[in-house]
Amino acid sequence: MVTCLIGLGSNQGDRVGNLLAAIAALGEDPAISLQAVSSFVESAPVGGPAGQPNFFNGAAILATSLPAQALLTRLLDIELRLGRVRGERFGPRTIDLDLLLYGEQVIESPTLQVPHPRLRVRRFVLAPAAEIAGEMLVPALTDAEQRVSIETLCARLPDPAPSELGLRVIMSAAAMQRHVREIQLSGRRVGVVPTMGALHSGHLSLVQEARRRSDYVVATIFVNPTQFAPHEDFTKYPRTLDADLSALSAAGCQAAFVPSAEEMYPRGATTTVDPPEVALPLEGVCRPGHFRGVATIVLKLFHLIPAEVACFGQKDFQQALVIRRMVADLNVPIEVVVCPTVREADGLALSSRNRYLSAAERERALALSRALRQAEQSIQAGETESNRIVSAMRETLAAAGITSIDYVALADPETLAECSHVEGKTVALIACRVGSTRLIDNCLLDPTIDAGSAKRGAVRA
Ligand code: AMP
Repeated sequence: MVTCLIGLGSNQGDRVGNLLAAIAALGEDPAISLQAVSSFVESAPVGGPAGQPNFFNGAAILATSLPAQALLTRLLDIELRLGRVRGERFGPRTIDLDLLLYGEQVIESPTLQVPHPRLRVRRFVLAPAAEIAGEMLVPALTDAEQRVSIETLCARLPDPAPSELGLRVIMSAAAMQRHVREIQLSGRRVGVVPTMGALHSGHLSLVQEARRRSDYVVATIFVNPTQFAPHEDFTKYPRTLDADLSALSAAGCQAAFVPSAEEMYPRGATTTVDPPEVALPLEGVCRPGHFRGVATIVLKLFHLIPAEVACFGQKDFQQALVIRRMVADLNVPIEVVVCPTVREADGLALSSRNRYLSAAERERALALSRALRQAEQSIQAGETESNRIVSAMRETLAAAGITSIDYVALADPETLAECSHVEGKTVALIACRVGSTRLIDNCLLDPTIDAGSAKRGAVRA
């Protein structure tokens, strides 16, 4: 068996999807044993026609009994199967697979040169290769190059400095942990934004806040199976990885952690986090087991990405309380920041699930923010009886044809204990179904703030 290093690149179509498909194709080849895959790093194209999209590049180590030329043919086959059309040199491509190293062999033939002639002069090749194959690369370097670290060598190369590179996409838990450690050793503060993908401006506002509070932002995209009950929408939850990665890159996020379910829950993983008491009412009643799944995955993510700060949305009010409490109770050294809910101009809270709504359902869904606004207005007008406020909110929902209501509640914003009178700070929360889509929304109410100056928690249309 010969240990080989290959480089992968894509700047057409679903770029990360193409790289993952190529990795999968290599993994399926019985003559190839895949040993390690690097993260994928976005970088500007080098050479080729102007105006082409950025590439994602990565590297993989594999072991094979195939001769070098036969391995190269397999790589070309995979390129063809994944839709690569061989066009101009350095032009855009759906997938590009390069044989960088074939053991320590030096081959100079018209169709194959290893070590790859551009391995040492292009950061976008060397950086992902160095991540998984430091030792292997050394014989391919010149004597002078061998005397400096591969990181130093990367830094000397003409591509942009690492801080100017685009998004890094990491799939492996171990690589994620290693990467954050490196960032923190270089003196940078890390911010983390956990998400389930299908990103919208609400998620991106968390990235912005994390950028303000840290030097290096990692967003996580993972549709966590353990927080969905069997009858819930796990399988049909929207998955839009390609668009999500472009949005994160444009928002200035530096890394995305995109693990598989197997990576997060390897066979035999049975330990869970018993969530705090604040998880019991409201969502805890309607979605038994939900917060156990949330607390477990968030704690795991905090271990893999031991950031200085984590940003969550007020949109999931109870979730934010559960996480705050868990972090305090379990001494997790991370600052939890809760950011305001981002809404459409007409008041609808942005949610990944809004894309399930038909036009008519979307119109009906406006009743949630309308009911919250009414509650806000009525306490500003002096109403303190929770029963009356809740009844009026239910009527507003019913008037819009929303009859499947999980809860409408006024509660203490720290404990979520329901209150009979609105005297101090209170949170109004709604969970209901519009068609088959379950929506939640909430608003902080403060009877001590008069109508004119009310800002916090405001549900403006
Ligand atoms: P999700 O992808 O639904 O798990 O949400 C990931 C994070 O984004 C959570 O902290 C949510 O509270 C937050 N989030 C979701 N919708 C919004 C929104 N409209 N405004 C602000 N944050 C949001």
